[in-house]
Amino acid sequence: MAHISDTFGSMVFGDSAMRERLPQETYRALQRTICDGRSLDRSVANVVANAMKDWATEKGATHFTHWFQPMTGITAEKHESFLAPDGISGRPILEFSGRELIKGEPDASSFPSGGLRATFEARGYTAWDPTSYAFIKDDTLCIPTAFCSYGGHALDKKTPLLRSMEALNRQAMRIMKLFGNDYVRRVNTTVGCEQEYFLIDKALYWRRPDLRFTGRTLFGAKPPKGQELDDHYFGALKPRVAAFMADLDRELWRLGIFSKTEHNEVAPAQHELAPVFTTANIAADQNQLMMEYMKKVADRHGMCCLLHEKPFAGINGSGKHNNWSLTTNTGINLLDPGDTPHENAQFLLFLCAVILAVDEYQDLLRAAVATAGNDHRLGGNEAPPAIISMFVGDELSAVLGAIERGERYVQSERSVMRTGVHVLPKIPQDTTDRNRTSPFAFTGNKFEFRMPGSAISPSGPNTVLNTIVAEALCRFADTLEEADDFDTALNSLLRTTLKEHGRILFGGNGYAGDWSDEAERRGLSNLKSTADALPALVAPKNVALYTRHKVFSACELRARYEIMLEEYTKVLGIEALTMLEMAKRDILPAVSGYTSTLSAAIATKKAVDDGLPCTYEQDTLRQLCALSDCLYRKVERLDSALLEGGNCSDSLELAQHYRRSVFAAMQEMRAVADEMETLLPRTSWPYPTYEELLFSV
Ligand code: ADP
Ligand code: MG
Repeated sequence: MAHISDTFGSMVFGDSAMRERLPQETYRALQRTICDGRSLDRSVANVVANAMKDWATEKGATHFTHWFQPMTGITAEKHESFLAPDGISGRPILEFSGRELIKGEPDASSFPSGGLRATFEARGYTAWDPTSYAFIKDDTLCIPTAFCSYGGHALDKKTPLLRSMEALNRQAMRIMKLFGNDYVRRVNTTVGCEQEYFLIDKALYWRRPDLRFTGRTLFGAKPPKGQELDDHYFGALKPRVAAFMADLDRELWRLGIFSKTEHNEVAPAQHELAPVFTTANIAADQNQLMMEYMKKVADRHGMCCLLHEKPFAGINGSGKHNNWSLTTNTGINLLDPGDTPHENAQFLLFLCAVILAVDEYQDLLRAAVATAGNDHRLGGNEAPPAIISMFVGDELSAVLGAIERGERYVQSERSVMRTGVHVLPKIPQDTTDRNRTSPFAFTGNKFEFRMPGSAISPSGPNTVLNTIVAEALCRFADTLEEADDFDTALNSLLRTTLKEHGRILFGGNGYAGDWSDEAERRGLSNLKSTADALPALVAPKNVALYTRHKVFSACELRARYEIMLEEYTKVLGIEALTMLEMAKRDILPAVSGYTSTLSAAIATKKAVDDGLPCTYEQDTLRQLCALSDCLYRKVERLDSALLEGGNCSDSLELAQHYRRSVFAAMQEMRAVADEMETLLPRTSWPYPTYEELLFSV
């Protein structure tokens, strides 16, 4: 096997490939585009395209594609061959021009656009994002691109993310100047996503229509052993899983993704993969690739990788913890407390900016993680509740408390006040004292946003984070730029911010029942379902925020709102239809079959000897008959709940109806079927059980 360092990134047209293959002039021009966001000259693009094509074909690529992230949340590609007939001889030559590199026109009229694209101009176009490197996947050169309409509306998830990074950079640079950091040229967002997933046996997966159509089990009684013993967590990897992970690593390393830690998670069959963090838009691209390869590699190993947020009821769901920080182009992490009073002051400003942002825009953060799948997770006993709060640890809480009260923070002899700013104690970065129940936790030098679900694109949550923090920094910069005395102004700014927004700080147990009462007293929002959360996207204060920072236009927001509502309704609709189908065609017939077996058994016993005891058969028969009648009524109920959807007049009303009536009917139906499952012999139940699914690999 080749050494890792030789193969790492071998399928990426990254910095070293560029250096090696581009003329120096071209390389520099491209760097200016990548680092400073300058637009790219056509002649430069031609040279880059040609070098890329040579590099890719040497590695066996035959096709290229613009690789983009439409609003479906997954990635899309349309492959085109490099091959073109030579104009004179007609013989095939390999061609790839700067024009093809920079702009593509996929006939992508079927992607959701929320009305942003009239059908007569259905074709959007894709535009190269030179800040994310091209790579080779399945013999195809993939060029990361943004996807827009001809009117310039963003039709994808990448464009707003890039815009939000710009917004954050603009505002953070004002702060950099205020602190005299003149050497800093850019502030970037860094992101590292911890990805959770389940692995189950492929043959079993194929026998479950619910898994195939919806990604989660819609029926299934709890097994006698779930995750009670916590014996899976960080346990030894089973050989099949270990082989999968090794193979996955090899694939990801070739794509330049530093997959790093892998371990078993809490639930049986659940695992986690964390890559090393990188710039936000690259991290988002890499996460999409990671998810794609998890599925692909699992398939190769006879398994199925489930990325759904809640594949199994009653045991942990899967999240995508989004670690987020700010870094200067000089490599300084702005959320690192630092040692000097000066660094401390700057850190405190950024910390308070995040506090303000998270408190004031709780609704947007909640909406950013709102999907039908994640609704099962938020508020479930292992995931943070739908309430947003922030954890900063005891030490930092004490410091912030002191600032708020206008006191000195006294921690041993280190607490000196100079320049009007608190000297922070060294914030411990150890991992032992972390609050795992907090949806938004400061973890030493970054924030960990734990609400995103495992299947979501990281672009959405990071677009929100960048924009709301940009807004807070903008307000801070507005105040401080006008100040006569910087230190005094800074201190009073921090103090006011903490007074107004300190309610978002919570160090207790976020899973505890009384937290939701306490949160309500504090006035924190608790938007339980996607249908409750999505209207935040079009709330006037949020539209103003996004347009002010040029991240979304009002109509782009409206489009996203419509698309997300529709997606939510569609997901529930597909789940409901799948349940109906399973109940009518598999479960009810199976139970009916078994009840006749029982009846026959009773009749036979009685015929043999009227006195033979048959309590078991009779009781079970009675229970099953009652249950199957009940299930049948639930089927009718779900059917009519779906029909009633036709009376709703708009997409929000429909989503609410699905949440209130359709989802409720599904839950009731499941409860009945799950009870039946526990009464039927294993051989009579039409599907693999939880036990089989969870302990299958
Ligand atoms: P945990 O204890 O939550 O597993 P880790 O320290 O292992 O925390 O980090 C988890 C993730 O956070 C990794 O993907 C890591 O790359 C990422 N991370 C670390 N530092 C930063 C940072 N400054 N910005 C963004 N992500 C980061
Ligand atoms: Mg984590």
